[in-house]
Amino acid sequence: MKYNFVLTATLLCLSPVAFGQTTAATIKQANLSSSNPTNAEVFTPVPNVVTPAKITGAAPSDAIVLFDGKNLDEWQSAKDHQSAAGWKVANDIITVDKTKGDIETKRKFTSFQLHIEWKVPADITGQGQSRGNSGVFLQGKYEIQVLDNYNNDNKTYTNGMAGSVYRESIPLANPAKKPGEWNVYDIAYSAPEFNDDSTVKTPARVTIFFNGVMVQNNQAIQGFTSTGEKHFYVAHGPAPLRLQAHGDASAPISYRNIWIRE
Ligand code: MG
Repeated sequence: MKYNFVLTATLLCLSPVAFGQTTAATIKQANLSSSNPTNAEVFTPVPNVVTPAKITGAAPSDAIVLFDGKNLDEWQSAKDHQSAAGWKVANDIITVDKTKGDIETKRKFTSFQLHIEWKVPADITGQGQSRGNSGVFLQGKYEIQVLDNYNNDNKTYTNGMAGSVYRESIPLANPAKKPGEWNVYDIAYSAPEFNDDSTVKTPARVTIFFNGVMVQNNQAIQGFTSTGEKHFYVAHGPAPLRLQAHGDASAPISYRNIWIRE
């Protein structure tokens, strides 16, 4: 106890983060270095106080709001990485414009927590991967599928259902809502790390809550999900979030309430 007091007092004096902003990276590093069983209780760094939203699902105080119903100022075309996003904003929602292609955030991200809501049109048509297909590409490379799979009625490969890591990891459950209703993804994503020779040091990992139900649990991602056969990594750094304009003939889906915490 005395040891802890002395240690804490020392850290309070020396640590630059003791009274300032504490980043997630600082806490991660502290967790990694606190494995000494004789020093199981630590007092710094102190997690920042975050004011939770009054309504669950709304952006908390430290989130970067990527879409709040107003405009696509945070987004651009993923084709040339500079022109306007071009998707439609009306009635506080974004609707995919398949003629404009994918859109991406202007900001680049590494590891993050993401909240995003999506809705398949009530009168959706088509089958399999051609029924309300879109996707949330983490760091622009690793797709969390968006598709109409309500009640398992739309048969497709299960590692390509809504809530899957596309063509990798089957969702643990199917809590999808019916077309015309809003679905919610809450995603915790850890970016991959690479060695100096560009080989993979640690793969990306993802945990997904789909309408409040966990459908991926700290799932390792095998690589870039848009490759035809075996997925593989190509070393990269911070990258945009990308939303898919899928080329199938079904009516476009919509998004709303998108925010991210680094
Ligand atoms: Mg897709």
